[in-house]
Amino acid sequence: MAAQRIVIENCAIATVDADDTEYASGHVVVADNRIESVGPGKAPEGLEDVLRRVDGTGHLVTPGLVNTHHHFYQWITRGLAQDSSLFNWLVALYPVWARIDEPMVHAAARGSLAMMVRGGVTTAFDHHYIFPQGAGDLLGAEIRAAREMGVRFTAARGSMDRGQSDGGLPPDFAVEATEAALIATEEAIDTYHDASSGSMLQIAAAPCSPFSVSTDLLREAAVLARRKRVRLHTHGSETVEEEKFCDELFGMGPTDYFESTGWLGEDVWMAHCVHMNDSDIAAFARTKTGVAHCPSSNARLAAGIARVPDMLAAGIPVGLGVDGTASNESGELHTELRNALLINRLGDRREHALNARQALRLGTYGGAQVLGRAGEIGSLEAGKLADLVLWKLDGIGHSSIADPVAALVFGAAAPVTLSLINGRPVVEAGRLTTADEDAIARGAREQARRLARIADGG
Ligand code: ZN
Repeated sequence: MAAQRIVIENCAIATVDADDTEYASGHVVVADNRIESVGPGKAPEGLEDVLRRVDGTGHLVTPGLVNTHHHFYQWITRGLAQDSSLFNWLVALYPVWARIDEPMVHAAARGSLAMMVRGGVTTAFDHHYIFPQGAGDLLGAEIRAAREMGVRFTAARGSMDRGQSDGGLPPDFAVEATEAALIATEEAIDTYHDASSGSMLQIAAAPCSPFSVSTDLLREAAVLARRKRVRLHTHGSETVEEEKFCDELFGMGPTDYFESTGWLGEDVWMAHCVHMNDSDIAAFARTKTGVAHCPSSNARLAAGIARVPDMLAAGIPVGLGVDGTASNESGELHTELRNALLINRLGDRREHALNARQALRLGTYGGAQVLGRAGEIGSLEAGKLADLVLWKLDGIGHSSIADPVAALVFGAAAPVTLSLINGRPVVEAGRLTTADEDAIARGAREQARRLARIADGG
């Protein structure tokens, strides 16, 4: 069968390719699920099987945004422990999270995904690490939600096995046995991981953090992931309290501890990495370990400012993350472009910290790198998968800013006129085409109330 084409013309384009190529007015041709051509001026003449022509006047086209850190289930526990830093916030929330079940996780995943996709995310990632006994198929629930919405997805089978009685932070009732967590992780990989070109679903192995996971589980998860050829993800160097915890329990900082358990490498990425000294940054750079930078969550939990400019200068792959919405209630990724830029300018390098192009790269190509998919997504180049976003920049929020990339990054959250995932429209004129937003909002409200009732003992 001949390829079905979508032609987009008359738009500004930021390709985020290796040379940061941009066109003031250009075209993108999509054939089935791939980009066939991108360049200046009008699309080539004589194209056959054109299903649709889009006039992109007043718009900027970028690669779809790639989220690299999230906890979908938190969509139904937003707005709690509003003034706490990480450890106190976790201690307040663990007892609530330990009551989640499959319908709650499905509703929460739909809310998290809908919010991101409406804002230009085309590849989502989730780190799920709480599996209460008898709660149903929680990983399956979020995978179902992503499939229903047509989102490219990496799901991390997370885990916690270090409860309070083993010196960990979570209560014992919120953790799994080490062996059970490893078996479930292997099952998730065998059931769902699709390593093929154009994959819509991949699995990562993701013990939660040094203070909620045993050394054995970290070591064994790394061995398992390498045997199965999947990626590894965890939280690292998020707070000064975590640093102190590692010093007291292991006699070293988080990065040295991770290195001692096999957790640095080009198949690993870690969320946050706020408290990194020069030698930690050098170790990440040497091993090509990636980072998910989550500026809003780091601010919400008063964790600090990650040294993103130093990481980029050292050659570390860095993507952006929403993080769970109990620590970033907006749940949006496009606003993290702006927050990454602004928050990093509060650090040592001031106005030389990050520019708008670097921020856009973090949210697109950088994300693709840390998810191990930079050959397929993250930039607009012929042959890559057709994941792209048409941002409307001719409205009141942006029309007086001449530079479209500056309008997108420095300006208000830009509306999405069209978003394609794998060549398929998932957003049209700011609304999801693959799901009912009102039903998602209703479902999330009902499940949030149900969880609050159960957690209160009602
Ligand atoms: Zn997180």
